[in-house]
Amino acid sequence: MSVPGVPTDDDPELELPCGETVDVREFDLNTSEIDCECGEAHGVVYDTDPLTRFIPEQMAHTLEETVKPRETDHTFGTLHAVGMLADEVPQTVASTDASEIGEVGFNYVWVSDFTAREVHVLLVQLLVDLMDHAVDQVGDDSIKSAFAERLDGLDVEEFVDEYRTQRSFDGPDDTAV
Ligand SMILES: [Zn+2]
Repeated sequence: MSVPGVPTDDDPELELPCGETVDVREFDLNTSEIDCECGEAHGVVYDTDPLTRFIPEQMAHTLEETVKPRETDHTFGTLHAVGMLADEVPQTVASTDASEIGEVGFNYVWVSDFTAREVHVLLVQLLVDLMDHAVDQVGDDSIKSAFAERLDGLDVEEFVDEYRTQRSFDGPDDTAV
C-alpha cells in the first residue's frame, strides 16, 4: 500500500526532518509525541489512528461520506489526511512503512517537525478545507447548512485545545480501532 507523497522504507531507523534518527520499534500507539535528541518535541501519527483522534465523530463521518480518495476504494481516513499533510509540508514529515518490520501495531508512522498540537491544528485546518470543498460538491443543502452552522466562527486553535483537553491523549480511546 503506498500513498502519494509518502515515501516508503522498511528500515526501522527513521531519519527525522531535524537530522536525528529514531527506531520506530520503540514507538507504541500511545506515543503521540516524542522528545527528540534535538531538543524539540515532534508529533507522531500512525495510519491506524482513527480520524477521531483529531476531529469529532460527526465530522469524521461526513468526511468518510463525502470524500472519495482518488487512488483507492478505501474510505477517507488518517492515512489520506497525513498524505495530504505530507504534500503540503513535505520537508517537515518523515515517514516509514513499518509493515515489514514486525509487531509494531501500525503500517505507517509519520514523525513531524511540528509538535503534536501543531500537527493537530494543521490537520484540522486541512480537513476543514477539504470538507468545505466536498460539501460544496455534494450540493445537498441540508448537509451544507449543518456544516456551515458547525464551522461558523470556528477557531481552529481553540477547537484543538478543547479537543485535546476533552480527550485523554494517553487514554485507551486513542489507540487504533
Ligand atoms: Zn528532532
